[in-house]
Amino acid sequence: MTVTGKNVLRRMADFDLTDTQRQVRAAVREFAEREILPTVEQHEREGRYPRGIIAKLAPLGFLAPMIPESYGGSFIDVVTYGIVCEELARVDWVVASAVSVANSLVGSSILRFGTAAQRQRWLPPLANGDILASACLTEPGGGTDLAAMKTRATQVDGGWRLSGSKVFISHAAEAGVFLVAATVDPSRAHRGVTMFVLDPSVAGITSRPLPMRTLQRDNVAEVHFDDVVVSDDAVLGEVGRGFPILGAALDTGRFSVAARCVGQAQRAVDLTLPYAAERRAFGQAIGEFQMVQQKIADMICRTEAARALVYRLGRMKDAGVERCSMEASMAKLMASEAATQNALEAIQIHGGYGFASEYEVGRLLLEAKTLEVGEGTSELHRKLIAEYALELR
Ligand SMILES: Cc1cc2nc3c(=O)[nH]c(=O)nc-3n(C[C@H](O)[C@H](O)[C@H](O)COP(=O)(O)OP(=O)(O)OC[C@H]3O[C@@H](n4cnc5c(N)ncnc54)[C@H](O)[C@@H]3O)c2cc1C
Repeated sequence: MTVTGKNVLRRMADFDLTDTQRQVRAAVREFAEREILPTVEQHEREGRYPRGIIAKLAPLGFLAPMIPESYGGSFIDVVTYGIVCEELARVDWVVASAVSVANSLVGSSILRFGTAAQRQRWLPPLANGDILASACLTEPGGGTDLAAMKTRATQVDGGWRLSGSKVFISHAAEAGVFLVAATVDPSRAHRGVTMFVLDPSVAGITSRPLPMRTLQRDNVAEVHFDDVVVSDDAVLGEVGRGFPILGAALDTGRFSVAARCVGQAQRAVDLTLPYAAERRAFGQAIGEFQMVQQKIADMICRTEAARALVYRLGRMKDAGVERCSMEASMAKLMASEAATQNALEAIQIHGGYGFASEYEVGRLLLEAKTLEVGEGTSELHRKLIAEYALELR
């Protein structure tokens, strides 16, 4: 049995993609396989952040697909942005995450809620790769219940003093801009939340690595704000009106995370097909056993179902639907669980080699599982979907 892989692109749920969207997919895939894939394992082993690779994305237009051309970005449409995230994540969680955080959480928030001066200060360097971005939302006391955040913003003469800690912050050591959520009054819960956009080199901000079992190459960090003083122009939007900004940021963030999960789910399929065709047991390829075929069929169906939800969400956003929170939760939930399940099945089909460091599938599992937690856990998304359906929100 041989598997050439040439069916993979043809069979994707892409019947209504434009020629441009297909060309972007092919270009990102070609770049990712040539430039990123050969380095991922080494970066992971050495705990080395792939800064050099991320720098190569900018001239190709893959670094800022949500930032308009007027700020130096390469925005075409939201579906195209999803395709870029999907194809980058198919080979590397961290590179895709750098694009997703900079565009969805940070760039889109500045674009939509920032002043002209904030947009001019932050968007061009984000688009051309001079700076990367981090979103500082999660706290040691909890990430799901964001309205209960403790990081405090206190008004001082001409600005604000920030004090508190954030955890699990991706890209923090490399970032040139932080989006920070803080509360001006914890007793006001979500009505106290205020967003700030600031330079991470301001006095009083320190970060240190948060040791992780996976994604050593991401340098996930704790970030501490010790009486950090910023001027009024660091406030994004209005004081006490940060929660809707967070909601909009997470809506776009969940789209790009879901697209990344589709890429990871697809990678598990792509690695498994040739293995199942070549590996032999009892005188035949293991791909000829029905129980292996069942797993492969489920992996493909999960991937395609998730992709259809993600592209539909992208098209809703392109059509101008203002809030697609329920659809964002649906896409993110299904795609993240598809990525984890596919990685599990891929390991099973690889047998003992699923755990050998020379094979990629073992690494995929924990990396996929992180996305069932980040940008809203599966439990939170199930709760949100049910609440929207029951008209409790
Ligand atoms: C690799 C990685 C990268 C990350 N990068 C970032 C980043 O860049 N920036 C950032 O701010 N954060 C980041 N995070 C943090 C992530 O967003 C949080 O871990 C996530 O939001 C969950 O918060 P928590 O870990 O505090 O879990 P908790 O909120 O303590 O939740 C623990 C458990 O309780 C469940 N739970 C909580 N509330 C409910 C409820 N109402 N109903 C049912 N179950 C509930 C949760 O689903 C979960 O299973 C990252 C995390 C990881 C793993």
